[in-house]
Amino acid sequence: MELFKELKPILDKDVALVTALVMLSWDKSTCAPEEAITNTTTVVGILSEEQFRNIINPKVKGLLEGLERKEEYKKLTETEQCIVKELRKVYDRIETIPPEEYKEYSELQAVAYGIWENAKEHKDFSEFAPCLKKLIEFQKKFANYRKKDNENTYDILLSDFEEGFTMEKLDSFFHIIKSEIVPLLRQIAAKKDLINKDYNSRHFDTQKQKEFSRWVAEYVGLDFKKAVMAESAHPFTTHLHNKDVRITNQYFDDNLESGIFSVIHEAGHAIYEMNVGDQLTQTLAGGGASLGIHESQSRFYENIIGKTREFWQPIYPKLQGIFQEQLKDISLGEFIQGINKVEPGFIRTEADELTYTLHVIIRYEIEKLFITGEVKVEDLPEIWNDKYKEYLGITPKNDAEGILQDVHWSMGEFGYFPTYAIGSAVAAQLYYHMLKVMPFKDYLLEGNIAAITKYLNENIHKYGKMKNTDQLLKDITGETLNPDYYIRYLKEKYTKIYQL
Ligand code: ZN
Repeated sequence: MELFKELKPILDKDVALVTALVMLSWDKSTCAPEEAITNTTTVVGILSEEQFRNIINPKVKGLLEGLERKEEYKKLTETEQCIVKELRKVYDRIETIPPEEYKEYSELQAVAYGIWENAKEHKDFSEFAPCLKKLIEFQKKFANYRKKDNENTYDILLSDFEEGFTMEKLDSFFHIIKSEIVPLLRQIAAKKDLINKDYNSRHFDTQKQKEFSRWVAEYVGLDFKKAVMAESAHPFTTHLHNKDVRITNQYFDDNLESGIFSVIHEAGHAIYEMNVGDQLTQTLAGGGASLGIHESQSRFYENIIGKTREFWQPIYPKLQGIFQEQLKDISLGEFIQGINKVEPGFIRTEADELTYTLHVIIRYEIEKLFITGEVKVEDLPEIWNDKYKEYLGITPKNDAEGILQDVHWSMGEFGYFPTYAIGSAVAAQLYYHMLKVMPFKDYLLEGNIAAITKYLNENIHKYGKMKNTDQLLKDITGETLNPDYYIRYLKEKYTKIYQL
């Protein structure tokens, strides 16, 4: 039998198990009852172990090595070649981990979210610290199992999220960005009273916000025949395949923007997943190209589309119609200024585009410290607060506003945050290219978001993992990732808004 044919049912089983695990994870974050966690965790542990054993065994190893031989590899289709490459990555990542440790880790991961959520609610990092310590130890151990020569542990973790972006590369990338953003932020701080957005904290009924969120998600292109939307403590997107994509949102009755821009962001992720090619979905080549590219899409919808006057001009009356009392005295111009106000704050997901990357840089610098073991987990709240003071000039009042703010560390994701900054830079690079090849602003004014989405579908989404970050960018824009576009974007945008 041909090697790939022999591998296929094993890969199909992997997809089935992953689908079940994703579903359980979604359920846990959105609607599972409070007491479900312990029993469900046992199930998660068993399924994860089964997934591990299905892939990590001598048979699969032999098939993979066979398929990687030049003469066999040549016979494969491009999709099959991509699947083989992805399988190699998965294999190398987990083969070295003893199955019992993998199971123990999966079980820890399953409860960590709940522990983080409670600690955040109690504003008490000490409740989460022991769990975080274990997650860090596991991840370091796992990374070190596959360490080659002088490789750096943090580089190994970073490469799981964005291939090729090492500390060396990121240090220089962030240096360029930091050296441009910080002075710009100072110029803006001197004019901080230019924009008043007090309206945003008027009382906005959350039920009405939900209705608008659903409407605007559809307006930007989310197809509810293939998507569902729920609520969770931290908005996120997940998918079972390209016909079942799930997003969550969160609503505050004293913050209108939060729910609107979170849903546009998550819709961006979801639109990506629902447009991955049919031949790729439910295979190892079937997700987004990388987390950076994923984030480039969500941030493209949220900011490059969603924060513009052209986008809101046709739809602001709709929002005003829903919140007549609250927005009747706020003109479109004032609203646009408001949603683009630069305001150093504690919450990354609600940060304006200018300070956003500083939030990311802080997390990157802290991860570097705890992965290299230079600091103790117990000291993290203080380090976090000091960095907020240094970069953004503000100090969190408590751990919920500070160190406990993001969900990612509770998921054992270390090395993930930089992909947010990469995504912003990719989005800006795409934007300047798209301005050249289509009437971008006219499309927004006409409410023809579909034309923009179609371009992204054809040039990015449909490829799944068939091309990586630099290949996609090179094929579309003619060059690999170049942070200059991002800086140009921020400068042009804020010079105009703040009349600098
Ligand atoms: Zn995102």
